[in-house]
Amino acid sequence: MNSLTRRRLLRHTAAVVTTGIVPGSLALFAGPSAMKAQQRGPVGPLPARGEFVIRGAYVMTMDPALGDIAGGDIHVKDGSIVAVGKALNAPAATAISGERMIVLPGLVETHWHMWNTLLRGFSGDRHEESYFPMLVAVGKFWTPADTDLGTRLGAVEAIDSGVTTVHNWSHMLPAPEFADAELMALADTGIRARFSYGWSPLLAETEALPLADVERLHRDFAKFVNGGLIHLGLGWRGMWRFGKRSPETVYRREFEFARGIGIPIALHVPGVRNSPKVVEMHGKEGFLGKDVLIAHATWVTADEIRMLKDEESSVSLSPVTDARVGYGFPPTSELIDGGVNCCLCCAKLEPVPSLAGAPVADFPSRRQYLDAGQRVLESERIQDAGPV
Ligand SMILES: [Zn+2]
Repeated sequence: MNSLTRRRLLRHTAAVVTTGIVPGSLALFAGPSAMKAQQRGPVGPLPARGEFVIRGAYVMTMDPALGDIAGGDIHVKDGSIVAVGKALNAPAATAISGERMIVLPGLVETHWHMWNTLLRGFSGDRHEESYFPMLVAVGKFWTPADTDLGTRLGAVEAIDSGVTTVHNWSHMLPAPEFADAELMALADTGIRARFSYGWSPLLAETEALPLADVERLHRDFAKFVNGGLIHLGLGWRGMWRFGKRSPETVYRREFEFARGIGIPIALHVPGVRNSPKVVEMHGKEGFLGKDVLIAHATWVTADEIRMLKDEESSVSLSPVTDARVGYGFPPTSELIDGGVNCCLCCAKLEPVPSLAGAPVADFPSRRQYLDAGQRVLESERIQDAGPV
């Protein structure tokens, strides 16, 4: 039975706090603003956010105590919601008509490698043109200015799609200037973000992340926090990558470093039907927890779902990427029914336009695709059980 409803997924989504190229050609994309962003140092203060009230909208609060409010108002002051209800008294606030509109909380994107937004369309169907070979090929020529523009483009597209919080999981950080460029691009757009410092595909399997640079950011993060909108995390390689176990000296050091300084951790757990039980592998080593976000998790067992729930790890579902890369399809209803906190990934290196011509950061298209895929899985299960 399909227990995945739009409201359930939205609630989960909102509850979690994603060549043969000519060398130098990417620099053509780098405009003066990118260069300026790199040169100007720590981010400045946010502009004044003022006071306004949205009146007469259909307000979907996603709060069980408040429910939906037809003809409702939302009063916002200095970036915070101070009241939600009908006919609010807010004489000093600028009024904005919300008639014939729906107002709901900003969506949270939980798995986005924003630096490569600029590369949309670079990934092809042949193996040598697929996502991972392309990352390595393009990465050799990538510059901080390219990173700035990719991250900026992604953030603007997110805001245009109703996404107000992103998990920018960076994995092209060959030098400190790349991390600084991403953080400044995020801050410039005013989006709320987790910046996860991830491993680069240019790193050898035996090389740990540049933890000294993560430590530098952690120590100096007040420069990038942008009024509390941005925080730091770690994009961990995990124990299992590309079908084999990573060196323990590397993965353990990275994980213990992140947990030691108290920053959240994210890892990819992709897989195919016959993969080993990667979630269980991590759980037995103490590598799950409320501070750990798992991406993909397409082939988890019932025991692993229980483990994720018990350890309070969240799962970021990537329905479109999973289908495109060949990981399968996320067992969404099983995860949600099993009590696992699930959230959505909506952006990756994909051919454009993506589904039905929608922009890649289009949350509703991802949500519809997830729903359709879940119905296919359930139909297969029913048919496997016997004649219908
Ligand atoms: Zn990813």
